Amino acid sequence: MDTSLRYFVAGHRGMVGSAVVRALQRRGCASILTATHADLDLTDQASTRAWFAEHRPDVAVIAAAKVGGIGANSAANATFLYENIMIAANTVEAAYRADVKRLLFLGSSCIYPRMAPQPIREDALLTGALEKTNEGYALAKISGLKLCEFYRKQFGVLYHSLMPTNLYGTGDNYDVVGGHVLPTMIRKFEVARTTGAKTVDLWGSGTPLREFLHVDDLAEACLYALDMENPPDLMNVGSGREVTIRQLAEMIRTATGCEAEIRWDSTKPDGTPRKLCDSSLLRSFGWAPAIDLEEGIAKTVIEYREAVAAGTVRLGH
Ligand code: GDP
Repeated sequence: MDTSLRYFVAGHRGMVGSAVVRALQRRGCASILTATHADLDLTDQASTRAWFAEHRPDVAVIAAAKVGGIGANSAANATFLYENIMIAANTVEAAYRADVKRLLFLGSSCIYPRMAPQPIREDALLTGALEKTNEGYALAKISGLKLCEFYRKQFGVLYHSLMPTNLYGTGDNYDVVGGHVLPTMIRKFEVARTTGAKTVDLWGSGTPLREFLHVDDLAEACLYALDMENPPDLMNVGSGREVTIRQLAEMIRTATGCEAEIRWDSTKPDGTPRKLCDSSLLRSFGWAPAIDLEEGIAKTVIEYREAVAAGTVRLGH
């Protein structure tokens, strides 16, 4: 990759953005631009345009988003749609106006129909109704990837998208109400282990199937995609390995060394029954994940314990 270019990573304090910054640093990129929320509100059109006009990056990676787990999404679909659609529209248009030649937009596999054939291929997009619990987020991300596709076609700029599966890893959000399942389980088992609690309450039936990818694998996929001369408009990024929520819980219980009994709270939603990406398109260009789930969970538990000791656990966004 061209390490002399100016890379802007939107959302550099988030789990994905910070992993992309680390990956760019590993490659030796000289100029990595970032902006804190106080300096740049990406939901604000005027300030987003002004920032791009002033800083003029060569490449932009849009990892900024309002994200959350099933609880946060289902309680606030309006906010998830509004904020994410504003971020997508403002960044793509401001980048185009500032002559940014290349932009990588990040979404999520929840853009696909709830009942899409599994593993989900990119061409399942817009073939059926969305999962209701995160419909707002999904609609915003679909708009974002379509903006990239249309700007590319209409204006000749190389704007394209990656849709990662469920992510976890360094810098995750450990809020047990709004967070995603994997970090939430780590926190719940760690709290039970350290307090000696006899039970851990988890949500739903434990039967849904999910795929998980370590965020460092996604960051490498981002750089891989940015190296491609003529990437497809949209590519999935997943590990290809599926586990039930129950299996995930057992893995995390083992990794934390917690002996509490699991109780499944059936008043909480299961969400989509199965969500496995078909990542063969990106893999056909040579990318492959490097971190397997047990290894990634073990590393994440260690990082969580370090963050607890340092008082730096992220709770919310
Ligand atoms: P999703 O993959 O978009 O549905 O979002 P999540 O990462 O929040 O995963 C939700 C799945 O994990 C659902 O099947 C939940 O029922 C299940 N789950 C089990 N326990 C928990 C928990 O403590 N928190 C969350 N967020 N999900 C849980």
